[in-house]
Amino acid sequence: KEKNQIVEIEEKRDTFADVGGLEEVKKQIKIDFILPIQSPEIFQAFGKEIGGGLLFYGPPGCGKTFLARAVAGEINARFVHLDLQSILSKWSGEAEQNLHDFFEDARKRTPCVLFIDELDALGGNRQKMSAHHDRLLVNQLLIELDGSASNNEGIYVIGATNTPWYLDPALRRPGRFNSLIFLPPPQLEERKAILALKIKGKPQEEIQLDLIAAYTEHFSGADLDHLVKDAINFAIARSFETGEIQPLTNEDFMKAMEKRQATTLEWFATAK
Ligand code: ATP
Repeated sequence: KEKNQIVEIEEKRDTFADVGGLEEVKKQIKIDFILPIQSPEIFQAFGKEIGGGLLFYGPPGCGKTFLARAVAGEINARFVHLDLQSILSKWSGEAEQNLHDFFEDARKRTPCVLFIDELDALGGNRQKMSAHHDRLLVNQLLIELDGSASNNEGIYVIGATNTPWYLDPALRRPGRFNSLIFLPPPQLEERKAILALKIKGKPQEEIQLDLIAAYTEHFSGADLDHLVKDAINFAIARSFETGEIQPLTNEDFMKAMEKRQATTLEWFATAK
């Protein structure tokens, strides 16, 4: 048996069907990103450029990671997650080496969606690194993305940031993160769709999703996820007390709503 073999654990993959709302966004990703991967010959026949990554931005908790995972599910690729914060280093050259190693590892695991979270860690963050080091790391990322030195076939890059206005403009050029996609907080109907997905298959009375969706304006997908989990915890506690399974009720949601608040407004207040 080969040493250092990576053990792949098969788990159920989320697809677009698991993402509530965001219908326009899903359509755009299909056309701009998924179809060129699945049928490059059609795009090439018409002389269209293919390649380049998606860049998701928007308030926290509105599905950047979740959607990137679902893209991997749609194209049957692995999902490889890079948190840039975790590779930063105060030692000269170490962050670049970490980044290179990471890409090399991903190149052995193709096809994969390589998700680079917190892209704003490049540029804005001067705590761990000097401006000069920062520049070197951006350059290293450009080298890795361009794939001129290495083969990037089967690597599909998606970046994410909450603060796109801090992003180095070099990262936005064609072939890099050229497709900017805003993931807004869910609207009324989308909140309904997300809530319906999250309670699907759980013991429940008739839940008034219209009402709960109306009460949760400015909630992110993550806020809704927490709300549902809180409500479920009330139903579980009741089930323990009575010794039988008690369905999730509207009352559980009302109680859960007392302690949860929308988290997206703050982002809009600071957005540039
Ligand atoms: P951050 O900026 O904080 O990293 P994010 O935008 O990456 O946040 P996610 O981690 O993708 O947010 O979302 C958090 C959780 O919220 C997900 O695990 C999922 O349960 C839920 N969620 C967010 N958006 C949706 C959605 N459109 N449909 C279903 N669930 C969603």
